[in-house]
Amino acid sequence: MIIRDLLDRLLDLLFPDRCLACGRAGALLCARCRSGLRPYPPEAPPDGLDGVAVACLYDSVVRKAIHRMKYGRMRRAAAPLGDLLADHLLANPQPADALMAVPLHAGRLAERGFNQSEELAARIARRSGLPLVPGLLRCRDTGHQASLGRRARRANIEAAFVWAVHAPPPARVLLVDDVLTTGATLAACADALRAAGTREVRAVAIARSLAPGQRSP
Ligand SMILES: [Zn+2]
Repeated sequence: MIIRDLLDRLLDLLFPDRCLACGRAGALLCARCRSGLRPYPPEAPPDGLDGVAVACLYDSVVRKAIHRMKYGRMRRAAAPLGDLLADHLLANPQPADALMAVPLHAGRLAERGFNQSEELAARIARRSGLPLVPGLLRCRDTGHQASLGRRARRANIEAAFVWAVHAPPPARVLLVDDVLTTGATLAACADALRAAGTREVRAVAIARSLAPGQRSP
């Protein structure tokens, strides 16, 4: 951890931060792009979850930042995005005993080098004081969900997760994910946790697209 922090600082010196969305020098998410983010309207949680908190609408700024983090393998991008989540959670608290990241399959983890949800969750843990608890595993590689429709996603993701620790999971879990789409992945995580003894499962995500017909705030 210390070595990684040092490496991060060295990278900061060698490559000054540029905004992930607009490229302006000075910060990974510049004040202008950040202030232009639109809040996501409060809504009922997707099936299988007791609550959900989404920080903002999925627009081009968020999309660029998340893509740089995930597909550009830019681990540092998780810092401003995690702070966005932490700020949102402080303003919209969710009852929870622990944070958990939506796990990646081992193959995908090896490919990307890090789990973006875990990076985000670590940032929230630092700010909120909630522990980040490991133990939820993705036991099946479900491929790229993005190309699938709602029903196909649900079928593809069911039983993909397992609680892999002997001790039961915390009673109230707050799952951390980057983008919320149909909620099928989060619901499958919640199923695995409930089967092992968790009572309440909520989720927090950076962004979500508005459903057709849904009004922007
Ligand atoms: Zn910017």
